[in-house]
Amino acid sequence: MSDLEDIIAELKRCHSILISVHISPDGDALGSQLALMFALKKLNKTVTVHNLDPVPEIYRFLPFAETIKTGRPVTGRYDAYVVLDSDPPRTGLFDDAYPADTLINLDHHVTNRSAWRHTWLDTAATATGEMVYKLIQRLGVPIDRDIALCLYTAIFTDTGSFRYSNTTPESMRISATLLEAGADPWIVTENVYESFAFRRLKLLGSVLSGIERSKDGKIAWVVVTNELYDQTGTKAEDTDNFVNFVRSIKGVEAAVLFRQTGPAQYKVSLRSKGRVDLSELARLFGGGGHKNAAGCVVNGVIEEVKMRVISELENIISTQLGYGNDTIHGRRP
Ligand code: 5GP
Ligand code: MN
Repeated sequence: MSDLEDIIAELKRCHSILISVHISPDGDALGSQLALMFALKKLNKTVTVHNLDPVPEIYRFLPFAETIKTGRPVTGRYDAYVVLDSDPPRTGLFDDAYPADTLINLDHHVTNRSAWRHTWLDTAATATGEMVYKLIQRLGVPIDRDIALCLYTAIFTDTGSFRYSNTTPESMRISATLLEAGADPWIVTENVYESFAFRRLKLLGSVLSGIERSKDGKIAWVVVTNELYDQTGTKAEDTDNFVNFVRSIKGVEAAVLFRQTGPAQYKVSLRSKGRVDLSELARLFGGGGHKNAAGCVVNGVIEEVKMRVISELENIISTQLGYGNDTIHGRRP
């Protein structure tokens, strides 16, 4: 049986189903989660949606986003536990006590270890939302307006509004079908990219004013400290996409955002323009992700964390691109 067939059989067999996504959930994770919830409910399943972290403000427009439970612990017992858009440990929900026999994992991250009983990993998929679209079709559930809006949000956000290299003819075809089914693209754009809090722009200003870069200009980075959050009244979700401004500089191959998560702990967001593969670097620090977008958490004071990450980045850039030669190896974005 293929991974997809196996998962379809398992979902059909089960009655009560829990769906969870990764910590700091994004548009792909939440859109996939709610879309699958709607579809399974149409098949008369009892569905619970539960994540560790709350839904960020910009995604609260998603239908029934308010029904997503948050925090720990997960209560109740379920016939199936579905984890979308990440390896199950990244839900932060189960400690090491995974319901291994009943775990279903759908993901498109290259660093997913596929270690679970029912795993469907498609690293060629644009977004987990694209995989959920295929799953819903195979379950025979019609795509209604709510499902369409959720899946469109998933694909739209994970492709950076159809700008990144993961954008494919298929993801555009699926998106067209989602628009035909009633997804309103402006609702998504307005909520996700045109509804920022004033405080978020103040934070962006402070963060960008501290931007630094390597001597050769190939690496640039910014730091968000707890002090800056306090000064601007912001929180972690207000830094979403900041790293893209850093990547946008001409000549930069890799951009980094260091975001403080503890007295001596930083969440590191990595972005490349396509010539440098960052997934290995993230894995080296215990994280994961994709070639062009990856992340990890590094312990230490900021100077030490910066030094470790930037020097590893210098190593991989010189290995992957070669010194003083940034056009011959690798693919242009
Ligand atoms: P972001 O920088 O936006 O948090 O994440 C970029 C990409 O890397 C996303 O696809 C995300 O799922 C992945 N990623 C970020 N941080 C981690 C991490 O700590 N562990 C793993 N496995 N993946 C991560
Ligand atoms: Mn995703």
